[in-house]
Amino acid sequence: TTGKPDIAREKSGELYEKAKKYFPGGVNSPVRAFKSVHGTPLFIEKGDGCFLWDADGNKFIDFCCSWGPLILGHNNAKIREKVTEVMQNGMSFGAPTALENELAELILSNNKLIQKIRFVSSGTEAVMSAIRLARGYTKRDKILKFEGCYHGHVDSLLVKAGSGLVTFGETSSAGVPKSFADETIVVSLNDRKAVEEAFEQFKDQIAAIIIEGVPANNGLLIQDKEFVHFLRDVSAKNNSLLIFDEVITGFRLGFEGAARYYDVKPDIITYGKIIGGGLPVGAYGASVEIMSSISPEGPVYQAGTLSGNPVAMAAGIAQLTELAKSGFYKDLNKKAEEFTDSIRRFTTAKNYKFKVFNIGSIFWFAFSEKDIKTAEEIDPASMEKFKIFHRELLNRGIYLGPSGYEVGFISAAHSKIELEKTKRAIFDSLDIVFRT
Ligand code: PMP
Repeated sequence: TTGKPDIAREKSGELYEKAKKYFPGGVNSPVRAFKSVHGTPLFIEKGDGCFLWDADGNKFIDFCCSWGPLILGHNNAKIREKVTEVMQNGMSFGAPTALENELAELILSNNKLIQKIRFVSSGTEAVMSAIRLARGYTKRDKILKFEGCYHGHVDSLLVKAGSGLVTFGETSSAGVPKSFADETIVVSLNDRKAVEEAFEQFKDQIAAIIIEGVPANNGLLIQDKEFVHFLRDVSAKNNSLLIFDEVITGFRLGFEGAARYYDVKPDIITYGKIIGGGLPVGAYGASVEIMSSISPEGPVYQAGTLSGNPVAMAAGIAQLTELAKSGFYKDLNKKAEEFTDSIRRFTTAKNYKFKVFNIGSIFWFAFSEKDIKTAEEIDPASMEKFKIFHRELLNRGIYLGPSGYEVGFISAAHSKIELEKTKRAIFDSLDIVFRT
């Protein structure tokens, strides 16, 4: 196998030069800059099903899927039609609509882990509000989070976070006051002792433990069921809440997300991505009792001009209606299992130091042989190999998110044919990575 010639990037390059004049780093979200992989970011013109087309006319099978929301693939006809229909009546009213009830009903009637929900416009907003709710409800200030877990760009959670922060080698953000960061206790994943010690040291001060349903922003760090249940028990014992950030895993692992997968009942759950069908929606939910702390029922203030926006609700309704159909997750997860298994068989046969992690339709490729469960176990030097891999895959028409710390997603629109093509491209690209 030989390396393929690089794809054309002239038009993307021109657009990027222009964008750099307008936006810091030429992008409106840092993870989009191809900072840790080869070349300039690709400017996308169109998506359809599992395919993406860039400004230079290159076509890719897409495994980034807008970083998770597109579980039905790009430009799904049912979502597009519903959105177009709803838009005929206007885009925003700042007053309640029946569409909010419809999406809430769809969620709550299929999800026994929460009783009430509040819609917001992004995952960050959902988590920010959930944290405020936990603090208001428990009347405590401190939050315990895990190293490598990303919960959006919420001030007090941008401490040892993953995602773009780890990609750029700086795991905490400037601009977060020390006094805010002081309210955040950070411990390693899979470390019971550290969690117990934190509860001893900060007795009656911890409002909540927050964890990603399955940590998926710093590699895919699949936690043992025992550890997740331990978090449930230790938070309950200390009258703290357990917050599951299911912005990625919610409606991805199933309608009841990672909480059902682990068979654990968190006190507050946050959602984003999938529930908006590709439009900006986030949400947080909890029991009737906890949610009664939220304004205008209770003292915890949280609001939004575009919250529950009718067009965004329409996209969510159309998408979740498909996901609620019987067998949806079974089929999707089976497809993902077959895909990842055959890559494992290939790399084992070739003795490559490469591991595929997957849960449901989320996967992560690690250039390592270890069973990685914590952020610290990822060797930053292995990202050099990812860089070659990413370039070879792009040159073969496969689009992965531009960082070796990010996970990939399989959608219902990825057919067997495209997954076969992808596997072949992966095999050829790995042969090149391990030859160099
Ligand atoms: N929580 C998790 C687990 C996430 O993965 C993300 C985004 N990747 C967020 C929160 C923030 O969501 P958003 O980017 O929509 O603000």
